[in-house]
Amino acid sequence: MQTPMDWGKVTTVILDMDGTLLDLSFDNYFWHEHVPLRFSQIHRVDLEDAKQQLLTRYQSKAGTLDWYCTDFWAHELELDIPALKQEISARIRIFPNTKQFLAKLSRLNKRIVLATNAHRDSIAIKMNTVQLESYFDNIVSSHDFGYSKEELAFWDKLAEVEPYDPATSLFIDDNLEVLATAEAVGIQHLITIKQPDSSKPEQDTLHYQAISDFSQIMPIS
Ligand SMILES: [Mg+2]
Repeated sequence: MQTPMDWGKVTTVILDMDGTLLDLSFDNYFWHEHVPLRFSQIHRVDLEDAKQQLLTRYQSKAGTLDWYCTDFWAHELELDIPALKQEISARIRIFPNTKQFLAKLSRLNKRIVLATNAHRDSIAIKMNTVQLESYFDNIVSSHDFGYSKEELAFWDKLAEVEPYDPATSLFIDDNLEVLATAEAVGIQHLITIKQPDSSKPEQDTLHYQAISDFSQIMPIS
């Protein structure tokens, strides 16, 4: 059962980028296929060995700011990560009805904030490809604060640059660990994404309200 969204109670909409507005299939393909390919070519190792080695390295950093940091991986893997992303930027896909949804929020004078763990380099490549930047009143990267969205400190830092009222804010994110942190800081309206990566099965969305398309929560007026 889909609970209808009460837009009268929401003044600010805080949105995640990858897996929420954009198909996470790009990022999964990038880290699990393209990076291993280029790593194996440049460092002259077997492709399967490269995949295994990188997977181990990724897992050791999961959930930390380093995991999301292109500078960290550029240094760690001795690869130009932004350049590699650019090579396959044609694979970046926006989810259906995303622009219509953001345009509607804008017409209703909602404050629209992008809050992402992605590095500024990645944000720029994504925004340039899908032309979404103009929809946002503010774009925040956790790298500016030194804390990932999974950490409580992120939300204090966010309030300093984007004074949001948790009681009237809606936060949409495909990452359930991040949603749990937002819940802990008192954000009243939380929504997650059923299928962040279109090439993978739907995720278990626990007790959170989950959508498969923004048309399901599109404001009517
Ligand atoms: Mg995400």
